[in-house]
Amino acid sequence: MEDLQLLIDLHQGTLHQGPGSEGTTLKAFGLTGLDPEATLAVGDFGCGTGSAAIALAHHLPHATIQAVDLCAEFIDILQQRIQSDHLTDRLSALTGSIDDLPFADESFDLIWSEGAIYNIGFEAGLTYWRQLLRDRGLIAVSEITWLTASRPAEIDEYWQNEYPEIGTVANKLSVIERQGFSPLAFFVLPPACWLDHYYGPLEQKFAAFLEHHGHSDQAQALIASQQQEIALYRTYQAYFSYGFYIAQKV
Ligand code: SAH
Repeated sequence: MEDLQLLIDLHQGTLHQGPGSEGTTLKAFGLTGLDPEATLAVGDFGCGTGSAAIALAHHLPHATIQAVDLCAEFIDILQQRIQSDHLTDRLSALTGSIDDLPFADESFDLIWSEGAIYNIGFEAGLTYWRQLLRDRGLIAVSEITWLTASRPAEIDEYWQNEYPEIGTVANKLSVIERQGFSPLAFFVLPPACWLDHYYGPLEQKFAAFLEHHGHSDQAQALIASQQQEIALYRTYQAYFSYGFYIAQKV
């Protein structure tokens, strides 16, 4: 099995494919200042199996939501949730890349994205998604962020290697401004979003995953890399998290 396929297999049974929670999704929505009763066109880009899209669909009873992810297996799971939650008239899920979307310019009032924009780069993503927003439209995007001006070499090197575009809050806000947005609000995802909602449920799957894949070298390497990531988070959580950025197109 390909490495990517193994990664999908490991992540597809959990509610979140990255740090987050229903509480922080709804907190971020509150910070947009939008009326939850409004008729909004919303995009959820890099939706995974749909934790945020489902939460938003229930919280915004008159919104229409288009959720997109590159991974067809995740979209299949979301399609099932859309059916079982009776959301077929307002929430649609499609497989596609968030840097090449099938939507016309100025389609959305609100573009949502949790733990996914890094895949296409924060600045490139903002540039592209801005076109898809209507006048004065909003983005609510979570992005891996340094919480301090400096940090121990071990964690600095790890993230520089994983995602060279990682930056401080001040750096991310200046990118937002440079790309034609006015920042409205920002908060940091708390440790529970990483440990209780993401890493905890994932860790519980490790043993069965290894068993299922016959303890292959590839499966063991994947689990080892996930364990390294988790250990680094536990050690260095004071220095980085996801920042949730809410901003308005100007
Ligand atoms: N928003 C979800 C998933 C975050 S994980 C949550 O918070 O749980 C990041 C997601 O980005 C994965 O589902 C992955 O399949 C998706 N992804 C990665 N590259 C992508 C791309 N180019 N286009 C669309 N989705 C992408």
